[in-house]
Amino acid sequence: MPQSYDRVFNFSAGPCTLPVEVLEEAREDLLNYKGTGLSVMEMSHRSKPYEKIIGEAEADLRTVLGVPEGYKVLFLQGGASLQFTMIPMGFLPAAASADYIITGAWGKKALEAAQMVGTVRKIFDAKDSNYNHAPKLTSLDVDPNAAYIHYTSNETIQGVDFFEDPSTAGNWVCDASSDILSRPMDVSKYAMMYAGAQKNMGPAGVVVAIVRDSFFDTLVEKTHPMLDYRVHAENGSMYNTPACWSIYMCGLVYKYLLRNGGLAASAERNQKKAGTIYSAIDGSGGFYKGHAVPENRSWMNITFTLPNEDLTTEFIAGAKAKGMIELKGHRSVGGCRASIYNAFPQEGCDALAQFMGEFAAARG
Ligand SMILES: *Cc1c(COP(=O)(O)O)cnc(C)c1O
Repeated sequence: MPQSYDRVFNFSAGPCTLPVEVLEEAREDLLNYKGTGLSVMEMSHRSKPYEKIIGEAEADLRTVLGVPEGYKVLFLQGGASLQFTMIPMGFLPAAASADYIITGAWGKKALEAAQMVGTVRKIFDAKDSNYNHAPKLTSLDVDPNAAYIHYTSNETIQGVDFFEDPSTAGNWVCDASSDILSRPMDVSKYAMMYAGAQKNMGPAGVVVAIVRDSFFDTLVEKTHPMLDYRVHAENGSMYNTPACWSIYMCGLVYKYLLRNGGLAASAERNQKKAGTIYSAIDGSGGFYKGHAVPENRSWMNITFTLPNEDLTTEFIAGAKAKGMIELKGHRSVGGCRASIYNAFPQEGCDALAQFMGEFAAARG
């Protein structure tokens, strides 16, 4: 059955699928936002209607994710990449050291950004297994004096998820770009959590940083204002012009999630969706091989390989002909990657699983 508006099943790792009803709402409001006579794109970020938009977005994110009192929520720019650049600049003083846990490509980039700033310890690196697993956080040799401990809850390229909040002391900092809002997370366990919008929250252009108030006290004295968390917090994410439209879209997505049962329901849908595709991998008699070890199999990014390069190319082309796009895996893992964030429908997972079965039967 074709999707509404003849849309394809978009397995892109990001930017990615947004909920159709959110896109419809944005379309409805595009030319004249709720009687203001202009679109959100054209509106002053200092205007009353926009204050309401960003205020509601923050309040709804706090509700849906369960952000406790004592945390600032910032809507910044420069993506998750600028966050993992700003974090060591702000939170890693010259006399201190920070711990980094590397379970894939993004953690590695974050580590490299920190190494340019100060002293860093790599306390875990899954390189030898080509990043197919994550450790138990409690098993790691964390420096009790670390300025912070950084990890990536879901490695988007490898498809490896911790499925675990930290449970020990320390300033835990998490890049949750590709699994935020996909399942409940206990924000109170983190000094900071950040996530680029373009996976589970909205369009590209905005990154959310959730920072514990007491973590601000550990900031170095002086940073350039644009790179200073204090400055962004003091100015309510409006030290400079924020990504107005992207924040508005994120706000619509938060409301959509709240209407649809919050993160418990989101987790249930995502686990089922991922299960559909992992079953197709496991039921293929070895034709498809999952990259991640079973306990760390991401619900968001499903990575798998086929017996060879030619079959992979044929598979991706065959899927595309059936309206399933962006299945090519990252070159570091090879094979395929099916990214199925929150807004990706179950029907798309069913369609992919069916095609995987047919393809394996014909070529296996
Ligand atoms: C996509 C992604 C990033 C990079 O995000 P940008 O917004 O492009 O900077 C960082 N970390 C993770 C886990 C990601 O999935």
